[in-house]
Amino acid sequence: MSALPPGSTIGILGGGQLGRMLAIAAAQLGYRCIGYAPKGDNVAAEVCIDFFENDWNDTEALAAFASKCDVVTWEFENVPLHTVEAIPADRLAPHPKALEVAQDRLNEKRFVEGFGASPAPYKRVEDETDFARALEEVGTPGILKTARDGYDGKGQWRVQSTHEADGIRFPGVACVYEGMVHFETEFSVILVRAKDGEIRFWDSTANTHHGGMLTSSILPAGELVEAQVEAAREIARQVADALNYVGVLTLEFFATKDGPVFNEMAPRVHNSGHWSIEGAATSQFENHIRAICGLPLGGTETRFVSVDMRNIVGEDALAAHAILSEDGEPHLHLYGKREAREGRKMGHVTRVSHSAPPATGPQT
Ligand code: AMP
Repeated sequence: MSALPPGSTIGILGGGQLGRMLAIAAAQLGYRCIGYAPKGDNVAAEVCIDFFENDWNDTEALAAFASKCDVVTWEFENVPLHTVEAIPADRLAPHPKALEVAQDRLNEKRFVEGFGASPAPYKRVEDETDFARALEEVGTPGILKTARDGYDGKGQWRVQSTHEADGIRFPGVACVYEGMVHFETEFSVILVRAKDGEIRFWDSTANTHHGGMLTSSILPAGELVEAQVEAAREIARQVADALNYVGVLTLEFFATKDGPVFNEMAPRVHNSGHWSIEGAATSQFENHIRAICGLPLGGTETRFVSVDMRNIVGEDALAAHAILSEDGEPHLHLYGKREAREGRKMGHVTRVSHSAPPATGPQT
């Protein structure tokens, strides 16, 4: 397929900050975006030329949305599969198979295991009896996670001991119980794959999470991550090829003393790649747009010696403009969310430098 000409329209399913940053990158390349998401704080709408606020089940609205788009992508991996499949297949990128795999933690683990990845030991859990068995077989500490619809640590319960597990009310939906991984650090492999199969990787940052939610992504990521990235990339490459993936794909790993342990995959641009806006030759957002529109991919190399991306969460966003007067050329991104709720990602700030970070290590 030839590249979409300037002035073409990109549809984005989902209305959050990832859609907002995709639409900004698309505008720079001369494309327009139309969004689609249920009613809510759809911050992507502010930078789209049109926005459908309709339910995921509204087939009429979906057909009207699709008829206006030359290509449709998503920014949210919990868009129901039937919604995505209502869009003509030749207009979708990536292929919905990637969503089908990633929407269920069990599917995802099995799929990625097929390419040699090692996840934490895990068991499928459907009810209390399964849970008791899983606790016995996998042991404690561990984490019970809903198989579907979890994100940013939601739908997860940490279990320190079998005794503590008695206090967890089983959520009544399919779950996975997995052993707690003792990791040194976390990292993600973010790649972009073009329609012709070309793959490019960004550098892998060291990622820190708090309560299951990403708080920072730092480069250089340190020796352990650097030693494990190649093996992790090889898995990600095989996953992307097997899905005939087009666009940006993320796989998250734990760097342990025994090698990389696969955590999860996101068939989309990712929070741990936000640093690429200022830190890399081409950002994850721009390369996703380039890939789905059939344009040549841009370079993914890091342009600085050190990069430090931090999320701005909850009410901290209200005073975020003060960051602009701090040293170190902070690059501030606010997402325009109307309500600064606790634990809600409101923006991020990236600092880039041509020198190495201080020996004391990254700020916390
Ligand atoms: P997830 O939503 O599965 O990516 O989990 C969010 C975060 O919780 C991860 O990035 C880790 O920081 C932590 N986490 C999740 N699963 C495990 C595990 N099996 N062992 C240790 N930490 C975990």
